[in-house]
Amino acid sequence: MPGYELFGAQERKEVNDVLETGILMRYGFDGPRKGIWKAKELEQELCKTFNVGHAQLVSSGTAALTTAMAALGIGAGDEIIMPTFTFVASFEAVLSVGAIPVLVDIDETLTLSPGAVEAAITKRTKAVMPVHMCGSMAQMDELKAICATHKLLLLEDACQAIGATYKGKSVGTIGNAGTFSFDFVKIITCAEGGAVITNDEEVYRKCDQFSDHGHDHMGRDRGADLHPYLGYNYRISELHAAVGLAQVRRIEEFLTIQKRNHSIIYNLLKSVEGLTFRQIPDPAGDAGSFLSFFLPTEEMTREAVAGFAAEGIGGNFYWYDNNWHYIRKWQHLQNSSMMNHMYDDQKKMVMHYTNQAFPISDAIMSRCISSSISLVWTEEQAKERGDKMAAIISKVIAAHSITV
Ligand SMILES: *Cc1c(COP(=O)(O)O)cnc(C)c1O
Repeated sequence: MPGYELFGAQERKEVNDVLETGILMRYGFDGPRKGIWKAKELEQELCKTFNVGHAQLVSSGTAALTTAMAALGIGAGDEIIMPTFTFVASFEAVLSVGAIPVLVDIDETLTLSPGAVEAAITKRTKAVMPVHMCGSMAQMDELKAICATHKLLLLEDACQAIGATYKGKSVGTIGNAGTFSFDFVKIITCAEGGAVITNDEEVYRKCDQFSDHGHDHMGRDRGADLHPYLGYNYRISELHAAVGLAQVRRIEEFLTIQKRNHSIIYNLLKSVEGLTFRQIPDPAGDAGSFLSFFLPTEEMTREAVAGFAAEGIGGNFYWYDNNWHYIRKWQHLQNSSMMNHMYDDQKKMVMHYTNQAFPISDAIMSRCISSSISLVWTEEQAKERGDKMAAIISKVIAAHSITV
């Protein structure tokens, strides 16, 4: 899955360009930087690679979500519909702009269930936020139609799915805005960084301003800039952007290896009777960073997870027990435990929505294993891993069939 597995000469070269000038900041210092503008170059590269009008780099994927929400005008009292299976950053970002996360069920795509989204719409709903989990994509046609009917914004959290496509379009470029993360374990990395991508020029301009204290970047220098809005500092550094630039240029190389190893393992697990796979709305667009599958029951799934561990097969995620990715263990959200405090309305709504049971999501997540796909496996190693996994799962399922 992660870009950190393949780090080398290209990345070092880009970083060295920046170290030669010593200009580590992305804005200003036009003379001393001697034509080196890594953040700008990376933004152009993102637009070209993902066929999108605008890209604004920021310091993380979380900052990208906050920035995108601010630029889309999401704020106090607005309800944002999002899935029960995501990474904590998605709801943290909603809270950061004073809005209210409304968590709804997923389906076997492991992303938003369109029916659950529709059922959760109220007068206060402002946006729907699909999260393209584990390298694959949400049902974008259905979600787009719902947003059009109810006049809602569509914000795609594509932090985990850089390089995935849906019907020929890169995920993140389909809604009003999308976000990428380049943190250390993402498909491409720059250690810490993120981007908002959008085809809406005004949204882009606001992201550019919001992420740099509201600077309009129209002045001759930073001192001469005006500040049409309040903002924050979510700037990326030139050093991080330099690494990201090298990695984005390698995205095709990464995806090719990832998809090859993904299909080797998929083909070996396919023959295991009783095993089913995550539904992929557009299989050709899967980035291949994970292979997610279901066993028939929670008990069997837990036995398979234990079996993988016993055989030393790492990288198999059982999200149902995970503190970061599934609502079941988000006690801090369920208790509204914030260091500063929420406004009353927000607190009431958060506690209301998050203390409810999610039996539909539970029934899916308790049977789901996501197996991460490495860029450094040879075909032989991928095959060996797939064979071992298939044997373990077959044994678990067979043992239960006998006792039935
Ligand atoms: C990683 C991730 C983020 C946040 O990205 P950071 O760069 O780590 O802040 C947001 N959403 C999802 C789904 C993620 O996986």
